[in-house]
Amino acid sequence: RTVYVNGEYLPETEAKVSIFDRGFLMADAVYEVTSVLDGKLIDFDGHAVRLKRSLDELEMAEPCSQQELLEIHRKLVDLNGIVAGLVYLQVTRGSDGDRDFVFPAADTPPSLVLFTQSKPSLADSPESKRGAKIISIEDIRWGRRDIKTVQLLYPSMGKMMAKKAGCDDAWMIEDGYVTEGTSNNAYFVKNGKIVTRPLSNDILHGITRKAVLRLAQEAQMEVEERLFTIDEAKTADEAFTTSASAFVMPVVEIDGATLGDGTPGPIARRLREIYLDEARKTAI
Ligand code: PLP
Repeated sequence: RTVYVNGEYLPETEAKVSIFDRGFLMADAVYEVTSVLDGKLIDFDGHAVRLKRSLDELEMAEPCSQQELLEIHRKLVDLNGIVAGLVYLQVTRGSDGDRDFVFPAADTPPSLVLFTQSKPSLADSPESKRGAKIISIEDIRWGRRDIKTVQLLYPSMGKMMAKKAGCDDAWMIEDGYVTEGTSNNAYFVKNGKIVTRPLSNDILHGITRKAVLRLAQEAQMEVEERLFTIDEAKTADEAFTTSASAFVMPVVEIDGATLGDGTPGPIARRLREIYLDEARKTAI
C-alpha cells in the first residue's frame, strides 16, 4: 500500500513520523474518514470544511489548501486502486523535538498523514442487511466531542464492551440522554417520526447526519431534533445510526430489547437507499 506523509507518497513500511509528534504523545491531532465508492470520494467538501473547523478550534495550522487535499485523496485512491473503501486523514500539531505541555511555536509544521483502506463490500456489508445490535454505556468522554480528535480510547473500549456482550456497537448516555454511538450518530423512529439529538459540543457534527436529515426532509419524512432516552429508543419502531464509513446502519436490538420484528426497519432501509443513491451521484 502506498501512503502519504508530509509531502511524500511512500510504501507504508517506509513512512515515518517523529516519536515526539504530539499526535503520538498527546493525541494532539484531528482526523477525517472519507468513503470511496466507484473510485470516487463521497462528500469530500463536507469533510474538508469540518477538518478546517476542527483545526481552527484547536488553533492548529492548515497543512495545505483544500484543493491540495483533494488531489492527495485522489492520487492515493488511484495509486492503491481503491474502488470501494476509505481514505483516512490525520493532521497533528507536529513537534519541536521534545515533550512539552506547552504548544510548540506557531511556525512548527503540522504533520499530515493519509492512507487508504480497501473495503470491497462497503456498500452492502452483512451488518447492514442484518441490522446492528447495540448496548448502552455511560459517556465519559471529554466535553468537546464536536472536534474530531484522535482521542478514541473510550469509544474503542465501548466497541470492545459491545463485542464482549455479543453485540456490534455501543450508544453512550450522559445525564440520562443518548449522546451518540462510538463512531456514529444515533436515531430512533416512532410513528413515522425520526428523532435525533440536536447539534452541540456534546456530539460530533456528522457529515452523514447532515446529508441524511436533509434527504429525509426532502422525502417528506418528519424529523425532530431533541434529547432522547435509551428507553425511548428501546421501545421505538426502529432505530439506526449514520456515519461516513457505514452510511445508514439499521439497529435491530438495544440492550437486549428487539425493535419491531428484529429486522432492519423500512425507514432506515429507505434512507440508506436514498443516501447511497445521492452519494454515488454527487461523488467526485
Ligand atoms: N459520532 C462519532 C463519535 C464519530 O466518531 C463519527 C464518525 O466517525 C460520527 C458521529 C459520524 O460522523 P460522520 O457522518 O461525519 O462520519
